[in-house]
Amino acid sequence: MAWFKKQKSPLPVSPKDEDKTIRTEGLFHKCEGCRAIIWKKDLDVNEQVCPKCNYHAKIGARDRLRMLFDDGVYEMQDQNLVSTDPLRFIDRQPYSRKLAAARQATQVNDAVINGSGKMGGRPTLISAMEYSFIGGSMGSVVGEMITLAVERSTREKMPLIIVSASGGARMHEGTLSLMQMGKVSAALAQLDEARVPFISVLTDPTTGGVTASYAMLGDLNIAEPGALIGFAGPRVIEQTIRQKLPRGFQRSEFLLEHGMLDAIVDRRELRDYLIRALSFFMK
Ligand SMILES: [Zn+2]
Repeated sequence: MAWFKKQKSPLPVSPKDEDKTIRTEGLFHKCEGCRAIIWKKDLDVNEQVCPKCNYHAKIGARDRLRMLFDDGVYEMQDQNLVSTDPLRFIDRQPYSRKLAAARQATQVNDAVINGSGKMGGRPTLISAMEYSFIGGSMGSVVGEMITLAVERSTREKMPLIIVSASGGARMHEGTLSLMQMGKVSAALAQLDEARVPFISVLTDPTTGGVTASYAMLGDLNIAEPGALIGFAGPRVIEQTIRQKLPRGFQRSEFLLEHGMLDAIVDRRELRDYLIRALSFFMK
């Protein structure tokens, strides 16, 4: 039997103490390149490039368009297309449900935004891919929207820029996704005949069917620093050829050195670089 009982009462909280609660959630970001903890505002003013190690973090399609067009002003096009889930595909969950969730989270209908506006005063079309929409994968909607942008560009003699960020073709639409590669490439051949410039910007990551079609078909193929660019992933290649691959062999720097890219451009200089390149082409 206890000799005495200690009364437990919660410590009194004065309103002043409540004010002392410090909220740090969402204020800082851990850089994936150097692991440094960086104030988010510093990243925001630096276009999501790490001020310490120059790591280029992924950015959404809307931010991309805002960064590239004059005064961040553009008009969205072809945004009414939606996938009909033609194969009624189910993996861990039905594809239709996955699409609905991605639409809800990103507020776009699929993994690309077509925008028209001006760059350096010149009317320009930009298709920017949205990586957070099912890994920026290319199904029939992405293929069709890119094709529509290419065709508009051909018709109106407006230069085209495609900013890729993609895990490749979308398996949920099977062969219909693969057919987009041929369709977009054919449209780009017509754009080439019309002598309208097309610049491809490859960002981290650009892989699979997107690399194997339009991302590598630009009059200029340029990439952001440190971007993963390839067709199959390193593990698949190593298992197939039974050889250890050199370090960083699928990064922009390696690809530039081996002639697969024309330039690597820092995101903060990308807009000026593209304006200069377009005025060179459109002379
Ligand atoms: Zn960093």
